[in-house]
Amino acid sequence: MMEVSEAVAAVLRETLPFESQAIPLLETLGLVLAEEVRADADSPPFDKSLVDGFAVRLADCATPLPVIETVAAGQVPTYVLDHAAAIQIMTGAPLPVGVEVVVPVEHTSQVIGTDGRPLVSVPSKVASWKLGTNILRRGASTKLGDLVVAAGSELRPQELGALAECGLARVTTRRRPRVAVLATGDELVSVEQTPGPGQIRNSNETMLCAQLLRACAEPVPLGIARDERAHLRERIDLGLQADVLVLSGGVSMGEKDLVPSELASAGVRQVFHKANVKPGKPIWFGVLDRGPNSRTMVFGLPGNPVSSMVCFELFVRPALRRMMGVSPAESVAVKARLTTPHTTKGERPTYQPARLEWRADGAIVTAVPWVGSSDLRATVAANSMALFPVGDQTYEAGRTIEVIAW
Ligand code: AMP
Ligand code: MG
Repeated sequence: MMEVSEAVAAVLRETLPFESQAIPLLETLGLVLAEEVRADADSPPFDKSLVDGFAVRLADCATPLPVIETVAAGQVPTYVLDHAAAIQIMTGAPLPVGVEVVVPVEHTSQVIGTDGRPLVSVPSKVASWKLGTNILRRGASTKLGDLVVAAGSELRPQELGALAECGLARVTTRRRPRVAVLATGDELVSVEQTPGPGQIRNSNETMLCAQLLRACAEPVPLGIARDERAHLRERIDLGLQADVLVLSGGVSMGEKDLVPSELASAGVRQVFHKANVKPGKPIWFGVLDRGPNSRTMVFGLPGNPVSSMVCFELFVRPALRRMMGVSPAESVAVKARLTTPHTTKGERPTYQPARLEWRADGAIVTAVPWVGSSDLRATVAANSMALFPVGDQTYEAGRTIEVIAW
């Protein structure tokens, strides 16, 4: 039986990163930029005012000034400031040539000149302001050709905005994996139904689809497959058209656990069956090879909901990351101090639902009480899984352990 690290390595060995392609900008949230992007222009593209106010020269501030023009954002000034005057200017408007500072409107007052013309009076202390006060110079934040977003960056809202500023309507990224989700089990009914005797609702499909959405993949729910060979096989064949097929249930030792044998008869090459992990020991992983660069990765997750959830995070998520070019593909554990003592009966390394919190002096973690791998409700209080290595042990409060955030 493989250790978790060996099993993850085996998954990643089989996973091919996708080719990159141009994708509409707003559809790339959460994906990874394949090629660096450099600025196609200076930003800002012209000297501009940072405030609503009056653009003046320092030497002219002693007396009230005539206002010769108003420039709003989006307009272009027509005057050059080469004599004692003021130009009214709005935030973001291009600066007229000759302007030295912009005095915010709230520091100025309107006065009427001897000839009845309106003038603007600015405080005398403005004469001692630094040149360029309230002005943002062309190229102050970015110069033409500067690196804006590096290759390999995860695309968050701020990267998308920066790419929009560079005029990229389409962005080169590796696409989202399409992932078919197939829940198996004669006991399952859909979420809308009231379970009859011996039945339960198919919660795994919704949970796994949500985990896929969170992982920036595209879920393709295939409904429920009965524990019956022909029906299961028909659904598996449908699922094998996706980049990844995730099944839940039917991978243990029961008579009705038909998933491994039906996957084999569909041509899926088994890579491993079972891993030394709790929950999730019966996990199955294989690959359908269609050609040198075309394959479907197949994960048979154990049906118990927490097993499905944990195995998705441990084994499926790294494969998705590798396909999309996220580095590192492996889950990254953080160190955190236990808040309360915890006793393990460790016949296998345990990934225990836990609550991770960040405090000024570091991360702390609390194991969430659960009655086992069917206890999905317990995970609602959790935001991570705490790793307890194999062995019967009591971990004292304050002991540092490894935790993987969900
Ligand atoms: P299995 O892995 O098929 O032996 O199922 C293990 C346990 O998980 C059983 O108690 C199943 O009823 C339960 N289970 C299987 N599939 C699902 C599902 N889609 N949603 C919720 N529970 C499930
Ligand atoms: Mg089953």
